[in-house]
Amino acid sequence: NYVLDNMNIVPESDAVIQTNDRSYHFGDGVYEVVRVYNQTPFQLDAHWDRLFQSAQKLDMNFTITADELTKATMDLLEKNQVKDGAIYIQVSRGASPRNHLYSREETPIITGFTMSAPPSKQQEGIAAWVTDDMRWLRCDIKTVNLLGNVMAKREAADADCAEAILHRDGLVTEGSSSNLFLVNDGILYTHPATNLILNGITRQVVIKLATDAGFRVVEEAFPKDVLDHADEAFITSTTSEVTPIVEFKGQITAQMPIGPVTKKLQALFKELI
Ligand code: PLP
Repeated sequence: NYVLDNMNIVPESDAVIQTNDRSYHFGDGVYEVVRVYNQTPFQLDAHWDRLFQSAQKLDMNFTITADELTKATMDLLEKNQVKDGAIYIQVSRGASPRNHLYSREETPIITGFTMSAPPSKQQEGIAAWVTDDMRWLRCDIKTVNLLGNVMAKREAADADCAEAILHRDGLVTEGSSSNLFLVNDGILYTHPATNLILNGITRQVVIKLATDAGFRVVEEAFPKDVLDHADEAFITSTTSEVTPIVEFKGQITAQMPIGPVTKKLQALFKELI
């Protein structure tokens, strides 16, 4: 198995990660996870765009081009013979003696690895744990600093839930590693792409699919109490695609079927793939 180590493809056992990498000290790095279907990365350009935006928002000195990233990605996928799976690409700001103050001259360190396709819960749906969003105010940046997400995911798993659905002061934001959609009377509702959520690539694809299919999509924040009378609910992400929620637990208790709108969007998503 090979990995990407500072843009070089090397056997995993030969990879060298520096102890003064800023992503270890401060979570000072950004990343992307890209799904691979039939040897082809899905929505690759959109992922690179977001990676560049994340790096720019953090004032990182990131000069690698999308073409170079694509080449490294394709080479690694081929080397590991990934047919269906995913690739993780991380950009650390750089490596230097620990200091909160970063230098704009840091040289970014790009690492990556491939993963097999994750098990799908799209047929049966998942239970979701409703809890407080305790993250910072720049959730639009896809950084490796994910403790608020990690803690929420553990809390959800301890309650036998596959995802945590977060709210900030009563307004629902997103999942710990996904975006949330509700369906009521055939209309889709999801949090707008502000600093309080990560604007998921899958979210954007699903909004386009839904709009093109004639559904109304309302991008507005809604209170968590709305969750208990939603007709349908689902999460979206690169790895979970369109996964129905059949039960809310925690601060909201509700059950819902896997409805026609969710099924339609799952079908449209499969078609697009
Ligand atoms: N929101 C958060 C917090 C995430 O971590 C993720 C993905 O991991 C998403 C949303 C979904 O984004 P995407 O559809 O680009 O995978």
